[in-house]
Amino acid sequence: MAKRTYIILHHTAAEEKDTEQVRRYHMDIRGYQDIAYNKIIEKDGKLVLGRSLKIAGAHTRADGMNRKSIGYALIGNLENREPTRQQMETLIKSIQEDMAEYSISVENVLGHKEVKGAATLCPGKHTDMDQLRKDLVKPKQQEPDDTFKYIVKAGDTLSHLAVRFKTNVRKIAQDNNIQNVNFIRVGAHLIIGGAEYHTIKKGDTLWALAIHYNTNVLELQRLNPKVNPRALEVESKLRVK
Ligand SMILES: [Zn+2]
Repeated sequence: MAKRTYIILHHTAAEEKDTEQVRRYHMDIRGYQDIAYNKIIEKDGKLVLGRSLKIAGAHTRADGMNRKSIGYALIGNLENREPTRQQMETLIKSIQEDMAEYSISVENVLGHKEVKGAATLCPGKHTDMDQLRKDLVKPKQQEPDDTFKYIVKAGDTLSHLAVRFKTNVRKIAQDNNIQNVNFIRVGAHLIIGGAEYHTIKKGDTLWALAIHYNTNVLELQRLNPKVNPRALEVESKLRVK
């Protein structure tokens, strides 16, 4: 078997409930020897191993990719909807591991339709391959904990998103370098959530900061276990979310 030097991403184009349903379809209806793909990610982000890499895949005939790639599939019709946040988290982590293990470069991570000679919509218009490739090589500490990406839809405003995701407009604007908070572009990818820090100024108290950041003193202490609440150090950073 040729060395796997590419990763090809697919969607299943249907809303199967799990990998087993896809496998049954590929084996019983299409007559394949196993599910077409090597790795499948279900809607809740669970990664399931598919076809062995010891045999050729059955997912991308174009450019001989069945022999030289690892085939991933996200369950769902991503022409109609976005992949779930859990699916994207698992996808990124797993592809990063494969890139390291098989020495695959990020330019060789392709959506099915990006393969030379392929005529398909797969992996769907809601799968943003350019963004995925960026995410795959982004340094890990660049994003604070618990963030996720949100794609702006028509009618969204920053204040609605702030309420919906329990954050605030100032933080979303800051994290995403938004100059005009009254205008966000439909289709833009926003980083939402994650830690927020306050730089201690003279006279700050945990009690006043708790009110300012709409939290409480106990929560601030939990987020900052090493900080002495009676001796806040000016210019130091206090995590407030
Ligand atoms: Zn495909």
